[in-house]
Amino acid sequence: MRVIREDNLIKKNERVAVAVSGGKDSLTLAYLLKELQARYPFEMEAIIIDEGISGYRSHTLSAAKKQLGELGIEYHIESFQENFGKTLDCFVKNNEENACATCGVLRRYVLNKKARELSCTKLSTGHNLDDEDQSIIMNLMRGDVIRFSRGQNYYKKISDKFVERIKPLRYFLEKEIVIFALFNKLSFDSSECPYAEYAMRGEVGKFLDRMEESRPTTKYSLLSGYDKILPALNQSFITESIGVCEICGEPTMDGTCMRCKILEK
Ligand code: SF4
Repeated sequence: MRVIREDNLIKKNERVAVAVSGGKDSLTLAYLLKELQARYPFEMEAIIIDEGISGYRSHTLSAAKKQLGELGIEYHIESFQENFGKTLDCFVKNNEENACATCGVLRRYVLNKKARELSCTKLSTGHNLDDEDQSIIMNLMRGDVIRFSRGQNYYKKISDKFVERIKPLRYFLEKEIVIFALFNKLSFDSSECPYAEYAMRGEVGKFLDRMEESRPTTKYSLLSGYDKILPALNQSFITESIGVCEICGEPTMDGTCMRCKILEK
């Protein structure tokens, strides 16, 4: 809550969408925003994405609906099936290694679209310090200098079609959030997505855990160092030009946006 106040993440009477998966991070975020709402006026609605992952998403959906119901937060469920005519399982059949990349692009698209439809001016996600550090390292390891240099609200700065993202939990360790969620008896689901085993993120996460154990505060130092160099990275590697996708009309750097490339395939 101090982060929200000091970084001025939510303005008075602003309308905020919170992305909820049913896991500890997003439900902790929903809980904290609800607490904040008791002292500070703003509106909030939750968006739950059902990617269509058999044996996994139904558990997390139940947890999300139960906890949001208890908190009295209105929610909207958006599925890949309704938005794209297929579940994630169908998209990645026999190509499971690409599950997270496909899931990420489509999920970001749906979240942004729904938040815009709900007239929200902020889209709040439950990314924690571990998630942020993993993304920094993964972008570097892939040599993806452009993504590494963008930062979270690059698109918002250059197109009004993007709802501004906020990540109030980005300075908190994953294990701190687990403790908070357990202490406050939040009914989160802790099952793991079956596609997580194919993701580079898990391996990078284990490496960072080892570094943190032998050199405490490594995770925090990595993120704060990155935040300090981000303005310089922005200036050096990012151009301000953006066009619109020739298929769907959404903003994109290329002629066709990533979502349409996936759907075409
Ligand atoms: S682990 Fe990958 S496929 Fe599963 S929900 Fe997360 S991003 Fe999507």
